[in-house]
This record gives sequence, structure tokens and C-alpha cells, in this order.
Amino acid sequence: MQTKYVVVLGSLLSGLGKGIVTSSLAKILSLYGYNVMPLKFDGYLNFDCGTMNPFRHGEVFVLEDGSEVDMDFGTYERFLNKDVTKDFTLTGGKVMSEIIAKERKGDFLGTDVQIIPHVTDYIIERIEKVSEKEKLDVLLIEVGGTVGDIENGYFVEAMRQLSQKHRTVFVDVTYVPELETVGEQKTKPTQLALRSLRQDGIQPNFVVCRSTRRLDDKTRKKIALFSNLAPEAVIDDNDISNIYELPLRLVEQKMDKMLIKELGLEATTFDEKRFTEWKNRVDPNDKKRTATIAIVGKYVNLKDSYASVKEALMHAALACKANLKINWIESETFEESSVGSSLAALKSADGILVPGGFGQRGTEGMINAIEYARVNKIPYLGLCLGMQLMAIEYARNVCGLPGATSGEFDPKADHKIIDLMEEQKRTTLKGGTMRLGSWDASIKPGTSAHAAYGSDAITERHRHRYEMNNAYKRVLEDKGLVVSATTPDGNLVEIIEWKNQFGMATQAHPEFKSRVERPAPMFLAFVRSALARSNPISEETMTYSLLK
Ligand code: GLN
Repeated sequence: MQTKYVVVLGSLLSGLGKGIVTSSLAKILSLYGYNVMPLKFDGYLNFDCGTMNPFRHGEVFVLEDGSEVDMDFGTYERFLNKDVTKDFTLTGGKVMSEIIAKERKGDFLGTDVQIIPHVTDYIIERIEKVSEKEKLDVLLIEVGGTVGDIENGYFVEAMRQLSQKHRTVFVDVTYVPELETVGEQKTKPTQLALRSLRQDGIQPNFVVCRSTRRLDDKTRKKIALFSNLAPEAVIDDNDISNIYELPLRLVEQKMDKMLIKELGLEATTFDEKRFTEWKNRVDPNDKKRTATIAIVGKYVNLKDSYASVKEALMHAALACKANLKINWIESETFEESSVGSSLAALKSADGILVPGGFGQRGTEGMINAIEYARVNKIPYLGLCLGMQLMAIEYARNVCGLPGATSGEFDPKADHKIIDLMEEQKRTTLKGGTMRLGSWDASIKPGTSAHAAYGSDAITERHRHRYEMNNAYKRVLEDKGLVVSATTPDGNLVEIIEWKNQFGMATQAHPEFKSRVERPAPMFLAFVRSALARSNPISEETMTYSLLK
């Protein structure tokens, strides 16, 4: 069977959640048993996301194969419960560097290399190749940015050409504002956006409308009129309490059936059982408890910087049938003499989490927060930098090593508890050179980490240059810090924990592998401890309410 295509684009503004729409459509199609995958194009000229600033661009997501990609890939994996590979990520930088490499090789001898046809043909070929390799029924292609941007113009043109060769459905995600003073949904921006889409030769098959409340009948009809569509093809995507409800909303509006018809897919049966499980899992109405988690980081002003951490906490809370409340705390505030409202936010939390990060700024505040968690026996979870700082805090305050730090912050320090990995000392290039992607670890039986994973051997994704310095391992262990997991050869420390209280941290990023249907074990253990602290319940009830 030939692969069919769904192209999701935005014609009005970015940030409307095209990734969530793409993921929800992929999820629904997968419930029909079709072999589907998402692919994303981003127009920027970076080769990948690894060198971008999380504070501006949001989190850098890491795939199993070590690719550093756009945060939308996290959304795809969390919905689809499937690993995506580098074949499904395309950036302007990657496209151009591959075109130039081809030109240098002599693939275009005697021609002037042009956007049309050389770049557009190359994009189509690449898409066809991956569809064939993976034997896909449907490939969903998300176009980053907005139609009309200079960066993605050639990609949008390639999508138009793709639709001439293959069955392709276009989904336009738009925004329908509502002026409070008038109390009326306004369609003019969408009308103009649809016009610009048509100028590019694209007629959408569906218009998905982001709005604060459901579309009025009048609004839907008006958009349908201006988009040459039936009113049913104008889809409601109004604000919902959690993103995982979107597949439910789309099925409610029969978008699944309409999409399958438009794509001309062979009939299959819908997996009602898995759909009901999903529905029950994400139901916002059956939560009796709340876990309040303080995230102490340095990029907290842009919540997208910690997207996977937030979602992994959410998956764990959903599995425990609990609400999640996150207190975002700027770590630098714990370095000042008057911590004010930040301390109150920390004190009211049932669990404290220090996420990953780079550079020294804010780390002293994180160390103070970790000390607070340890001394007051508040459940703690540390991720990557959060593990390195947990070791440093322990070295300073329990092992009596003043000034203990990381080589990242002070390469000349006396006690570098954390130091550059051997192979990193020889690395000068910055792009794609960290310890990246999936790595194995062996867990010591009898530890809390072992209880959390229920296994001796695990794999988690990584993204770091520094590691725990083995010269200090004995010192820390002698004073009670538990090294609960290392790489199978015993060389790199992967997980550490406190004794007799919940405090666990890893050099990895378990948040990258957390899914709605399969929460990350460490997050589950952490949220479970936080809930036990906030709402003491019997062990029995607790085990029952957890996903195994
Ligand atoms: N900056 C630290 C390192 O490179 C931690 C990285 C992270 O938290 N992802 O090792």
C-alpha cells in the first residue's frame, strides 16, 4: 500500500499547538491499527536543536538514537507511545547542508542548483524514502512556523507538490479570537490566513480552530464558507484542561472517520479498549488528591524549557489518579538573603525537583533547595544537573568538603565532585558531541531505584558532558550516599539516593521516555512519595491506584 500524507500547518500564528494536533491525529489513526509516524520540518538553519537556547526555543528533546530535536518530538512520543528516529526530523540547516554536500559530490553537475526543483525534489524524495523504509500507512508532516514565513516557504511548496503525487490531506490550524468587550468570535484573521494559504496553492481539507470556548454555530459556518469546506470539517480545538484530551475531542467531532475517508484508507476496526483506557487515564474528573511539586530551575520563566519534566510529572499524577500542581521557582532566589515568596512555594510543596541545566548561574540556589529537602525529609528528584548538585550538596554538608563543586563551574577547584568525562576532554566541537541518547545502566538490588524500576537492567536517555568523579565515590558512600546504579562496566555513576528517605537522582533524563500510557518509573516513585506525604493513605490503596 502506498503511504498517504497528512500535512499540518499554521497559517496565522505559531504557538497554537500544531504539535498536539499532529500527535492527536497520529494517536487516533494508530488506534485504527494503521502504521503511522510523525515528521517535523523546522525552518531554522541550525542542523539540529542541540545548540539552541532552551530559554528562547523551549526544551531540547533527545531521541533514543541521540538526536537533539525540537520539543514537539516529545509530544509525538508521549501520545503515540512509540520511539521516533532522526529520519523523522528535518531542519532548514539539515536540508541545505545535504543539498550542498550533493552539489560538492557532483550530483548536480552542469546545472544551477535551485530551490525549485532541486531542494523541493530532495525534500519529497526524503519523505518518500522514509515512508517506504518504515512501510507507513500514513505519515503526518508538521510544518514548523507559519505559512508566509521566509524560512519555510520552499517546504510548503514541496508539500503542494507532494499532494500532486500522493494522496495528501492538509490540516490548517488557526486561531479564532474573541473580543471580551463584544463577546463575539472573530473569523477575519482566519479568512485572511486561508486566502494566503490558497495563494500558495493549498486548499485545506480541515480547519482546526484554537479558541477559548467552543465555536458558535455562526462562527463555524462562516469559516466553512470562506474555506470551501463543509461545517463538519471546521474543527473545535478550544482550551482544554489537559492536552491529552484532544484525541477525545477530535473523535467526538468524528474527525477520525472524516480523515480516514479523505485519505482513502482501507477500513479497519477501532481499538475501543485502548481508547477507553486512554479516556479513563486522562479523565480530569476523578482526581481526589493533589501532588504539589516545586521545580527549582533557572529557566522557569519559560515553562517550555522543562516541557518533558512537566509532562512526566503529569503522567505519574494521572497514573495515581491525582491532580498535579507545580510551583515553579527561580533558583537564584535561594541565593539571596530574603527569599520571600519562593520559600513559601518551596515549603508548601510535597516534593522538590531540580531539573537539568548548563552553566553555573542559579546552581547555588538549587544546592540550597536540595539541602532543604534532605534536612526536612521532603521527597527529592534530581535530573542530570539535579543529580550532580545532589552529590555536591552531600559532599559539602555531610562529608565536610567545603567548596565541593563541579568542574563545569570551577575547573580549578580543589574538590571537583563532578568532572568532565574523559572523552569530553578531547572534544572541541559543540554540536551533537555530548554523551547523548540511550545508554544502559545496572541497578543494585535492594535500593529504592531498584524498587522503582523493578529491574536490574535499564536504559535511559542522556545529554551531558560531566559525570560524578569516581575519586570521590568512596568518600560519599562512606558517609551514607547510596550509589544505586552505574553503567554496566561500573565506570559511570547513573543513579544516587539518600538512605531512609526519598531522595533519588539520575545522570539521565528519564522524563524523555515517559508516556501517558507508560509513566517513567522514577517519576512514579517520586510522585507516589510526594502524595504519601501530602495525603497519607494506606499502602494497599496506593498500590492499587498505581500503574504497574
Ligand atoms: N551541565 C551538566 C553536564 O553537562 C548537566 C547537563 C544536564 O543537566 N543535561 O553534565
